[in-house]
Amino acid sequence: MASITLKNLVKKYGDGFPAVNDVSIDIADGEFLILVGPSGCGKSTLLRMIVGLEDITSGDLLIDGQRVNEKEPRERNLSMVFQNYALYPHLTVYENIAFPLRLSKGKFSQEEIDRKVRHAASTLDLDEHLERKPANLSGGQRQRVAMGRAIVRDADAFLFDEPLSNLDAKLRGQMRTEIAQLQRRMGITSIYVTHDQTEAMTLGDRVAVLKKGVLQQIASPRELYEQPVNLFVAGFIGSPSMNFIPAHVRGGVFVTPLGEIAVPEQAAGRLPADDSIVLLGVRPEHFEDAKFVDEAIAARGTTFDARFTHTEWLGNQQYGYIRYQPDEAVQSKLNELARDLDADEMTPQLVVSLDASSRIRGGTEGRIWRDTRRMHVFDPETGENLT
Ligand code: ATP
Repeated sequence: MASITLKNLVKKYGDGFPAVNDVSIDIADGEFLILVGPSGCGKSTLLRMIVGLEDITSGDLLIDGQRVNEKEPRERNLSMVFQNYALYPHLTVYENIAFPLRLSKGKFSQEEIDRKVRHAASTLDLDEHLERKPANLSGGQRQRVAMGRAIVRDADAFLFDEPLSNLDAKLRGQMRTEIAQLQRRMGITSIYVTHDQTEAMTLGDRVAVLKKGVLQQIASPRELYEQPVNLFVAGFIGSPSMNFIPAHVRGGVFVTPLGEIAVPEQAAGRLPADDSIVLLGVRPEHFEDAKFVDEAIAARGTTFDARFTHTEWLGNQQYGYIRYQPDEAVQSKLNELARDLDADEMTPQLVVSLDASSRIRGGTEGRIWRDTRRMHVFDPETGENLT
């Protein structure tokens, strides 16, 4: 096992925009770190730099305190699990798992290889499939063989590049649990790249969020969710996404298209001048049909009336959609925000979570409660979270 340190890592392809831009992260021995971000943010490039498949333009990569920038991939002793599994179709499961051991010629006796392969296979519940070829395995089993090939070597760390993206949703959930358990059991340092935020939130000890090659925030899943440092992280983590409601700051209150809201204490000293626009961030679950909110809890927030365009009933809860009318200044802020978040457009719409038995429906008005204590306030110019 090993610690991995990234110090000001930069990757430039040709003379273009840096795909990885000054990224520094300390990954502790035994830690499970997730790299997450939208397509093209540089997460695979970063992983490939660590494993040695891409040159490092500048910065230092340390494994257990030793600089390894110039070392060949096989000298770094890291195991990588790829998205497409990279199995050999003509080899059996047994031979696929044994492959990395046979590569290090003469290092392992036949008995040792056999013992290691069988141990890896039993760890991954593949004992009964050792004589099969990859074509005769399910997607989940193939994924396990790829994992087997990674764990059969005594590697210092595992690197995963979107290993579950070819599986259907149910299997993905199952494999996610297996990978998390395996990593904890083996206690091996792991770095896992994904664009799937459920994987990001459930697998790792810490999550690093990247945007256009730049590290935005690195924190525990809970901290990322509850205290995102900027608009990008706030919008990327959470599904449905956080709502961003444009508001004018006026004499200690936020004037929004959905009524006035008192400025929360923690943001009071940091607001821009009166009449500027800020973005209020509220997660869908911090709204509720006012009829379903206990009196004691109701005091933590305020209510407003709104007309719903439609609702979605999911069995255990509902989502309600509310449209609002932005003025010109607000609409132009929403357009800027869309560009910043890489979204096609920002609809002037609010998504609110409603109790499964709420009677609010599309085309009707409802009284909605909002938890103003959980509200974030963002500066639309810098994206910074002011709360
Ligand atoms: P995805 O989730 O789509 O795989 P990613 O976050 O892993 O995306 P990378 O594959 O690391 O992103 O790519 C980061 C940036 O570097 C992108 O803009 C990509 O076009 C660019 N890039 C990646 N590989 C090369 C290459 N070999 N030559 C030039 N540009 C590249």
